[in-house]
Amino acid sequence: MQGVSGMAKVVIIGAGPAGVSAALYARRGGAEVTVISSGKDTGSLAKAHLIENYYGLAEPVSGVELLARGIDGAKRIGVEFREGDVAAVNFADDFHSFRVETEQEGFEADSVILAAGAAHKTLPVPGIREFEGKGISYCAICDAFFYRQKKVAVIGAGEYALHEAAALLPHASEVTLLTNGEEPACAVPETLSIHPGKLAAVEGDGRVQQVRFQDGSVLPVDGVFLAVGVAGSTELARKLGVMLEGNAIKIDEQMATNIPGIFAAGDCTGGLRQVAKAVYQGAEAGLAAVRYLRAE
Ligand SMILES: Cc1cc2nc3c(=O)[nH]c(=O)nc-3n(C[C@H](O)[C@H](O)[C@H](O)COP(=O)(O)OP(=O)(O)OC[C@H]3O[C@@H](n4cnc5c(N)ncnc54)[C@H](O)[C@@H]3O)c2cc1C
Repeated sequence: MQGVSGMAKVVIIGAGPAGVSAALYARRGGAEVTVISSGKDTGSLAKAHLIENYYGLAEPVSGVELLARGIDGAKRIGVEFREGDVAAVNFADDFHSFRVETEQEGFEADSVILAAGAAHKTLPVPGIREFEGKGISYCAICDAFFYRQKKVAVIGAGEYALHEAAALLPHASEVTLLTNGEEPACAVPETLSIHPGKLAAVEGDGRVQQVRFQDGSVLPVDGVFLAVGVAGSTELARKLGVMLEGNAIKIDEQMATNIPGIFAAGDCTGGLRQVAKAVYQGAEAGLAAVRYLRAE
């Protein structure tokens, strides 16, 4: 169990109750712990007006307040917090450790805990659900190969969408970014076409064949990749080959996924979506990560 500084490194994606609880246990277990959270998507707890069903609250507190108390407590014991949208988790060259990528920087990790909250909702555009697996994809790195020399579109206007488009460019004959009426949040490379139209439907006969816009125009495509907002837990899991059950990350009772060294906790594992469950699973994941690193 050793990193550059002598301590093994645990990187946790998500600073909600699951991620922070995992950080407390991993840090107290002796690991060097970095928690990365998105500045754009602050998670579910930040949206909760008042929490009054969690242990130890004499009076209800706002989700924002409970979140801040958790983070302050973890900082006090030496957990490092960084802001950034994680776009991918990859195996490092040794296939034994990992690299967590945000648009700005990369973090080396001996173990990673996925705690980025519930699976992200897809867009309520007709055809998207219907064609899932039949031309609609949520993971460019997983499915780019199937679109060699084909026309594809990526729905999204942020850095995550650009990351997905970049993974498709070497394979597809044409990649179009569909921003659905939004301004792209960052510079778009010249190799990428942009269509700013509002989406009306994804259409096809058994498989995706075209995207229809609200002005009635159509764009013929063989595949459409969803990359709205920031990458969610399940998107990150898919890229790494972590098994899912429906839209939830599949874990055992110690919060371990099918990939050694990768753990998951909180809303991203499905079941009860409550703070108490996120905190419990975070604790188990933090302890399990430390046990995993000690066994290495
Ligand atoms: C309106 C509302 C009211 C609620 N009321 C209650 C209640 O009264 N009691 C209760 O127990 N529960 C309540 N909940 C549920 C509770 O908030 C969640 O179960 C809990 O927050 C889940 O914790 P989590 O850590 O798994 O995820 P979250 O709290 O969702 O945290 C996710 C974290 O992941 C980060 N993240 C996401 N994507 C990325 C990315 N790509 N890169 C980097 N970071 C990322 C986010 O920034 C965030 O820090 C409520 C939820 C909502 C929405």
